[in-house]
Amino acid sequence: MSKEAPKTAIELKNLKAGGFIKERGKDLFTVRLRVPGGRLPVSRLKKIAEVAEEFGGEFVHLSVRQSIELVHINFKDFDAVVSALGEGEQKVASCGARMRVPTACGGCEYNPQGLIDTQKSALEVDAALFGAETHHHKFKVGFAGCPFDCPKSATNDVGFQGAVWPELNHDECLFCGLCVKSCTEDAIVQDENGGLVFIPEKCIFCGDCIKVCPSEAWKEEKRGYTVRIGGKWGRRPLVGTLFAVFLPEDRVIPFIAEVLEWYKEKAEGMGRIRIGDVIHRVGAESLLERLRGKFPDYVVKETIPPQVIDTQIGS
Ligand code: SF4
Ligand code: SF4
Ligand code: SF4
Repeated sequence: MSKEAPKTAIELKNLKAGGFIKERGKDLFTVRLRVPGGRLPVSRLKKIAEVAEEFGGEFVHLSVRQSIELVHINFKDFDAVVSALGEGEQKVASCGARMRVPTACGGCEYNPQGLIDTQKSALEVDAALFGAETHHHKFKVGFAGCPFDCPKSATNDVGFQGAVWPELNHDECLFCGLCVKSCTEDAIVQDENGGLVFIPEKCIFCGDCIKVCPSEAWKEEKRGYTVRIGGKWGRRPLVGTLFAVFLPEDRVIPFIAEVLEWYKEKAEGMGRIRIGDVIHRVGAESLLERLRGKFPDYVVKETIPPQVIDTQIGS
């Protein structure tokens, strides 16, 4: 005799795609919530706590990608849970081969190091691209406000870091040496006469020289995101490498969309594969070329494939 069909509007085969993850216990699921950039208004947090108390276990889990996960939800309660969360404007996340919820640090809004509004970018990307199907594997995007990269943006399929390009007006310099001391990358050195020499290829775009200069001899010439592609964690980690510099905030969504299109096309026939591994198979040049066509002012001249972190070395 066939089993009775589940009495829920949500089809079980689509559960994982919709952020409902099967647990060990019979009929129990973890429900992953959609929290772009990790920002959760207190009112929504209260509603989540109410729902967890009514339908979930004795705790919630904070995922490494800034989501709250409600544990021990019985599938018979799915509709009630989704409806109650909806009263607090809280949505459920996604899993599977699709665009995930973007992560972000606090960015420039209140973090003294922040160079760019990462929260705004995360919300915009979430609204435009969340859940987009890749047909191949998961696709993660992350935003860091500065090169400290607290959210580990370079381990995302596409990772963004706030960046500024400094420009020196030698005539304004007081020769105090503060910028030389503050530059951790040795991108500013003093010559034998005490004058400053800027070594652009060493600069990581942190803007520290601009912040410490008492005479405003260092000024910001441009600001935007550096973009790294091909990162991932898991069994075979990769760190994404540089594909674009000083990408303006308003070009972020079309940039990701273009990378997604390339990924969909190039990964065809390769099975379940992340974009970093696709770049390793076909090389970075075709993606660079494609991006150069749409973003000629920002795409770098050349790059290297995502960097392998070999965690299996040892005896
Ligand atoms: S990446 Fe930069 S802006 Fe973001 S939290 Fe870290 S220090 Fe602050
Ligand atoms: S922006 Fe940062 S890395 Fe570049 S020169 Fe200034 S202090 Fe050095
Ligand atoms: S911090 Fe400003 S004034 Fe001091 S050496 Fe650097 S550029 Fe000159």
